[in-house]
Amino acid sequence: MDEFSFINAIKQKAYRQPTLVKGIGDDAAVFRSTSDIVTTVDTFVENIHFSLETMRPFHIGYRVLAANISDLAAMGAEPAFYLVSMCIPKTWNQKALEEIYQGMHELASLHQMDLIGGDTVSSDRLMISITAMGYVPKDQARFRSDAQPNDIIFATGTLGDSRAGLEILLQGQECKSQDYYIQRHRLPEPRVALALGLQEINRVALNDISDGISNEANEIAEASGVELFIIEDSVPVSESFHQFSEEQQYEWKLSGGEDFELLGTVSKANWPRVQEIADQTNTPIRQIGYVYEAEEPRVLIQTHGETKQLTKSGYTHLK
Ligand code: ADP
Ligand code: MG
Repeated sequence: MDEFSFINAIKQKAYRQPTLVKGIGDDAAVFRSTSDIVTTVDTFVENIHFSLETMRPFHIGYRVLAANISDLAAMGAEPAFYLVSMCIPKTWNQKALEEIYQGMHELASLHQMDLIGGDTVSSDRLMISITAMGYVPKDQARFRSDAQPNDIIFATGTLGDSRAGLEILLQGQECKSQDYYIQRHRLPEPRVALALGLQEINRVALNDISDGISNEANEIAEASGVELFIIEDSVPVSESFHQFSEEQQYEWKLSGGEDFELLGTVSKANWPRVQEIADQTNTPIRQIGYVYEAEEPRVLIQTHGETKQLTKSGYTHLK
């Protein structure tokens, strides 16, 4: 592969962000800002985080960038730029690599993001690392440490879909709405519109759901020093999710992960306004529990009238 022609092929023809000074083509990129800058990085390794068995190269690019955008959304930031570091084995040809970038470009264009640089090296396994940057008004980034007792807990969208999609792809068995689940796995939609809409709310704790709510809820509880009490029946799932076994439903919606939805807490006073904003941004949202004062941070889940502790890994045991 010729690196020059590769970079030329994946380079944007035009940039969208007015704050960009220099994009691809020099030793580094330049942009300027008067806002706070939020930055994040995610690394994906072939056959660990993705596989050609279940994804086209297009989906791989789309999904890796989606994970980054979801982190920006969870910080309340407006996506702006990304850089891509690629470790490429000889078995990948330029056409397939360009398809990875097409997936990124597709999602980037939905969020007005610009690809402003990267790095290309060879290795024995495909690795993609994306660094993404976004803007947030000064001092308005959303932290997971901002949950307070008496808040309500909310979740967006439906949970467990991505994991269901992955299982469908791996098992190859037919089921209801299977295209929907596969799409949720391959082409996730990070909740940027809601995150930006929430900028008017003075305090919201936010975390994106990349590892499942059992993990993310524990992170909020620990960072904020509170107890999160979740009612299992109110955790949102898709209409046809009930076709899966009880164990699968439980496992996938709580620990499935990679739905890239948002988990958050907000004061009771602001909850009606949050629901309005969700409505305006076409974001399904639902209350799933309450925040309490805690001697020790923890997450409890009420299931079939029983209250259990929910650990990061999704393991539950009686209180
Ligand atoms: P340098 O040697 O100065 O680091 P390179 O020759 O590696 O620069 O890269 C030239 C330009 O192409 C730079 O703007 C760099 O950010 C960009 N670039 C290199 N590899 C990639 C890639 N895989 N994806 C996106 N941009 C890339
Ligand atoms: Mg250089």
